[in-house]
Amino acid sequence: MLPEDAAYDDGRRVWNGMIDKRPAAIVRPRSEPDVAAAILTARVNGLQIAVRGGGHNIAGASTVDGGMVIDLRLLNAVTVDADARRAIVGGGALLRELDSATAAVGLCTTAGMVSHTGVGGLTLGGGYGWLARMYGLACDNLVGVTVVTAAGEVVRATETENADLLWGLRGGGGNFGVATEFEFRLHRLPPVVSGGTSFFRYDDALPVIRNLLAAADGFPDRFLGIAAATLGRADHHLPAEFIGQPVAAIDWGYLGEYDEGRRVIEPVIAGHSPVLETPVSAGRSYRDLQTQSDENMHPGQRMYWKSSFISSLPDAGIEAFLTRGAGSESPVAGVEIVQLGGAISRVGEDDTAFSHRDARFDFLAVSGWEDPAEDDVRIEHVRRAWGAVAPFASQGSYVNNMGDEGNDRVRAAYGDAKYRRLQALKDRYDPDNVFHRNANIRPSAIAGPGGQERSAAIS
Ligand code: FAD
Repeated sequence: MLPEDAAYDDGRRVWNGMIDKRPAAIVRPRSEPDVAAAILTARVNGLQIAVRGGGHNIAGASTVDGGMVIDLRLLNAVTVDADARRAIVGGGALLRELDSATAAVGLCTTAGMVSHTGVGGLTLGGGYGWLARMYGLACDNLVGVTVVTAAGEVVRATETENADLLWGLRGGGGNFGVATEFEFRLHRLPPVVSGGTSFFRYDDALPVIRNLLAAADGFPDRFLGIAAATLGRADHHLPAEFIGQPVAAIDWGYLGEYDEGRRVIEPVIAGHSPVLETPVSAGRSYRDLQTQSDENMHPGQRMYWKSSFISSLPDAGIEAFLTRGAGSESPVAGVEIVQLGGAISRVGEDDTAFSHRDARFDFLAVSGWEDPAEDDVRIEHVRRAWGAVAPFASQGSYVNNMGDEGNDRVRAAYGDAKYRRLQALKDRYDPDNVFHRNANIRPSAIAGPGGQERSAAIS
């Protein structure tokens, strides 16, 4: 697709409505030779390359002004071998395509919490979701990947073939080439799932969040807890007095019956008078859980976020979480901490490129809106909310939640030793940094001060 083509404007859209880039060309390969031809054509013509999986990178890494977008959406086939408990998944498949193909035969593997997200970006950067505490990250379930490299070569990475590349693809992002096919380990689908949300008055929430942090390590792997502070919305079904006002919430999901899950969260909230409890109705399926946030996180809205891993928060940190750096104004940014741990933390720190396995929570400050006139104030509030909590966070952060935040943040996301190991892989598979629209591992030839660091979209 070229700018003059009728489908171009639709084709250049990515998930975040704030991103408005005009590539010189968008190509939609159907095969590995197509991908190789696209890479080589872009390189010969001096075009920057952006690789698009599901298009959900918050900073618009999967598109580029004046360059070539290699849009993988036609490579979305999912084939399941139920006996071998394996799924072969195209590099441009969406989570919902993976989930529906595996659920059809009573199986599943870890994916993210919004089903229109791409398998590609999510898995290559790590990938947590409702199953992660039970079955590990999406990247932990990867047993093989086929990659087309910057030189246009097709390389297979498994635990026995190019095992170092597989190590890098488990968390190192799209730095080493275009992944055309993923092979995942599958697990038994939980026959029933449940969950609930308890809303609290903003002023009453500190002890509840303190309880959650203290109790989290004792939760079973089937349970995942989230704490949030946000503005009450009509679709929360809160009483009118809370709409548009700051509220806090404890959200949970359980891979089993409601009563069992409720027993896990009970000690956290007992005696703290929620203003509203919304139990998830009985008879829910895993796919219901996977799609419950799709509408709220719909494509095309404007969104900005910043995130950091967290292991503990003293009361002053919880206070900062709740007040969101907003001073006397109404904080338009929401914040949440999503529980990690469980199977994620039982994989060795050096076993994959994904790092900070000891992080107990992922902290996000986030805002979504529709009116471009609000861009500046929304971004400013997210930065302040994140900045208020960041002093209590660990150094590490999740590369899939990063915008273009500079090489120091990427280095910190992996730690120096791992960054160097990733850099050695980058030198081997992409020494010219053809794949740079990502949390970029800079090849050593251009990594020095003043070296080429190309920008994604917004910081
Ligand atoms: P894209 O923007 O297409 O790609 C992201 C990056 O990966 C780009 O650098 C791109 O070049 C590269 N890439 C994508 N596919 C390939 C491929 N096949 N080969 C090589 N490189 C590739 N993360 C979680 O862990 N858990 C969640 O629950 C979760 N929920 C989210 C919900 C929403 C609404 C959004 C916007 C994001 C969410 N994320 C979540 C973050 C998500 O993991 C990242 O945004 C991820 O980058 C999305 O992947 P994508 O393929 O959709 O994005």
